[in-house]
Amino acid sequence: MLEPAGTADRLATAQQAYARTRRGSNRRRKAAQRIGALHAKVARQRRDHAHKTARALVTNADLLVMEDLRTVNMIRRPAPRPDGNGGHLPNGAAAKAGLNRSILDAGWGVFTSVLESKAEEAGRVLLLVNPANTSRTCAQCGHCDAVNRTSQAVFACVACNHTTNADVNAAINILRAGTVRRSA
Ligand SMILES: [Zn+2]
Repeated sequence: MLEPAGTADRLATAQQAYARTRRGSNRRRKAAQRIGALHAKVARQRRDHAHKTARALVTNADLLVMEDLRTVNMIRRPAPRPDGNGGHLPNGAAAKAGLNRSILDAGWGVFTSVLESKAEEAGRVLLLVNPANTSRTCAQCGHCDAVNRTSQAVFACVACNHTTNADVNAAINILRAGTVRRSA
């Protein structure tokens, strides 16, 4: 888990509270301060978690392979509606999901740069590979099909019946792509 979900929820709640206040009011100023404090807390938790996770990975592996998600994020990231104060206007559940999503995306960026610097310090190889089809390809037989991914958690190949955790299946494909690139 990359994200302190509790803080993200509290941030969404604080932004909804902010939207209910009147411009120039005391409550609005207090609500804005609370949003700022929560943003700082999210950033701090994200940084701590990124350092801890990256340290463990670099200690335990010589080769690190990640999906290059930079372009994917640019496409998928929901468009935020800036409120002019560095925050986002709330829009019910959709806005909350979008907010959590954008926090996750930003967290991934922080994690990637922390891992990059730790890998370099320790002399480890870190490769970024194309994320296309990593989650829909069977790591066992290579069959690529969107219906292989029956849910967010489960991978079940329609060609060979191989069934496993969807993240584990994708991780094997990602590692394989990196191994191929390294030996090329
Ligand atoms: Zn298969």
